[in-house]
Amino acid sequence: MHPNLFVTSHPLIVHKLSLLRRVSTEPKKFRELVGELGALLVYEATSDLKLDTVEIETPLQKVQSGILAEKIGLIPILRAGLGMVEGIWNLMPSAEVWHIGLYRDEKTLQPVEYYNKLPLEPTVSVCLVLDPMLATGGSAVATVDILKRWGVKRIKFVGIIGAPEGIENLHAHHPDVPIHLAAVDERLNEHGYILPGLGDAGDRQFGTG
Ligand code: URA
Repeated sequence: MHPNLFVTSHPLIVHKLSLLRRVSTEPKKFRELVGELGALLVYEATSDLKLDTVEIETPLQKVQSGILAEKIGLIPILRAGLGMVEGIWNLMPSAEVWHIGLYRDEKTLQPVEYYNKLPLEPTVSVCLVLDPMLATGGSAVATVDILKRWGVKRIKFVGIIGAPEGIENLHAHHPDVPIHLAAVDERLNEHGYILPGLGDAGDRQFGTG
């Protein structure tokens, strides 16, 4: 679709996504899968992170080795993005987690910010925006807008399923932001749900459906 879209076909991801889509998958298992998929997708999405070389002392001798050079921010979009945090945070425990809450205004259909506690100055240099479903792309575009205004230069979007409409929208507004997904589905329905999708990712995680 475009060069900044990365859709993985790794068998572990495909298998876990199949279980996630299944209507009979219960919230506990669903949360577990969202966390695991988040970690696997971020593993791929972070393959270009910069390293500093440091001297490490092993029990036998000194060796030059790499450690992460950049401060990473995990940006879950409330509420469905929450489930992706823990699995990713386990991989990079020094990351900061900054939540962003957006809702859609019924009249204008535009995303409205209701939660944002970002400090004045950026505290991270790379942000991973987390939302399992890239549907219309409205929340993703608004979140990247917020992060760019905050002053962050390197931003990546990590989701599980994307609709062509959402991918186009995010790419049109932010072509510099790589989009990492486990699958691109067919389309959105008239209610903004992704088809075939997996239903409401927030409700399915939190048992509120
Ligand atoms: N959000 C969801 O949780 N599911 C969709 O299909 C689209 C948006």
